[in-house]
Amino acid sequence: MPQEADYSVFVADEAAMVMFGRQIAQAASGGEVIFLNGDLGMGKTTLSRGVLQGFGHQGSVKSPTYTLVEPYELEALTVFHFDLYRLGDPEELEYLGIRDYFTDHSLCLIEWPEKGEGALPLADLLINIGVENRGRRIHWQAQTEKGQLLADKLKCSRVN
Ligand code: ADP
Ligand code: MG
Repeated sequence: MPQEADYSVFVADEAAMVMFGRQIAQAASGGEVIFLNGDLGMGKTTLSRGVLQGFGHQGSVKSPTYTLVEPYELEALTVFHFDLYRLGDPEELEYLGIRDYFTDHSLCLIEWPEKGEGALPLADLLINIGVENRGRRIHWQAQTEKGQLLADKLKCSRVN
């Protein structure tokens, strides 16, 4: 695929971050792999909460820092939320049965994907979150056709 444009939006606060996550859920067709890049405290888990809420999850969402992955069986599909911060070696993902997580009936959100480099599939969508003023700027970029569909739909998002 040719290099595609990088899109971005400013999100002023936590509520707007959750809202953008909900829009990801709305725009997704299912089966996407989404990498969430950005330092500690940037809002990756907050964004994940929005995606989960968008698919109908009502409970709390915490980063699965020690278990590495948390499954959420929701009405439309299963969302797997990964936090690879404490992963020592990408090979450990093989023991987790990582390949079974990536199907057309699931959606994978992966915090700290760089820790799993080599053991993870190509992401459909790359998201990067950085600080801007008192809020955050979210950048996103597609790496597959499926990701491009999602990226284009998100272009029209309004979160503020
Ligand atoms: P991460 O998973 O990237 O470590 P978290 O989702 O746990 O980050 O969020 C860290 C903090 O950032 C939380 O206190 C959250 O309320 C705050 N936060 C999230 N999104 C925004 C935003 N758009 N603007 C300002 N603060 C935010
Ligand atoms: Mg987190």
